[in-house]
Amino acid sequence: MSGAGEEPDPTREARALLASASALVRELIEEGVSEHPRLPATEASAPIDDSNSRTLRPAAPSRIRASDPAVAGATFAVPWADDVRPTLAEVRAHLGDCTRCDLCQGRQTIVFGDGNPNADLMFIGEGPGEQEDRRGLPFVGRAGELLTQMIEKGIGIPRSEVYICNIVKCRPPRNRNPLLPEVQACRPFLDGQIRAVAPKVIVTLGKPAAALLLDREVAITRLRGSWQEYQGIPLMPTLHPAYVLRQYTPENRRAVWQDLQAAFERTRA
Ligand code: URA
Repeated sequence: MSGAGEEPDPTREARALLASASALVRELIEEGVSEHPRLPATEASAPIDDSNSRTLRPAAPSRIRASDPAVAGATFAVPWADDVRPTLAEVRAHLGDCTRCDLCQGRQTIVFGDGNPNADLMFIGEGPGEQEDRRGLPFVGRAGELLTQMIEKGIGIPRSEVYICNIVKCRPPRNRNPLLPEVQACRPFLDGQIRAVAPKVIVTLGKPAAALLLDREVAITRLRGSWQEYQGIPLMPTLHPAYVLRQYTPENRRAVWQDLQAAFERTRA
């Protein structure tokens, strides 16, 4: 910025413009924004599951804050008391055949969660894609295959040993980001699942889940790998597997591998 009385400096202004444009591009990439995600042909023979693509929408969950009055003031009461640990079955029963938000109109199935109800390690993604919607299970498309591989080959434990769910339980149309009322309607169930499983460590996959639980704007490529906390539970933010599929570099794969290793080690500490 030029100070009072200074002549405008076109070079400096052009540089500043360029810097903010590259920051924006970085943010978009971090957010996984891509209309046509493609896995490099040399690194995967199967076509990428477009169900995991995310398109930018004005009310992206990265901008949803728990402190937002609309979220904080959510009136979706739960039948379990504040000091009670519900079971996953109770949380699922309370969710029922949910019609609390508009996502119910386009879904085939509610994708509640999958895995060990007493898991030490809990993974939280964004929302079901096409495959997940069809099969009723989280992370079973291309991104899910990569996540499963990272758990089973990277960490070396069966996927069934961890618990996996999403911030919203129904597929957003055309895989758009979930909107504020949708995240708001699902929040009590995500919190119910966290309380029910009571994991030793939470791993958030991608920017929206990290931003929601940490209640702040995050740049996931910078935040990943750094220990955070959610309601007293250590939280490891890492990259979303769909992002890793799009940016299929050794660096990104190594980063997620390291984050998962660190998360697993912490469960054993
Ligand atoms: N992406 C997600 O965030 N969750 C899924 O279950 C599948 C893809």
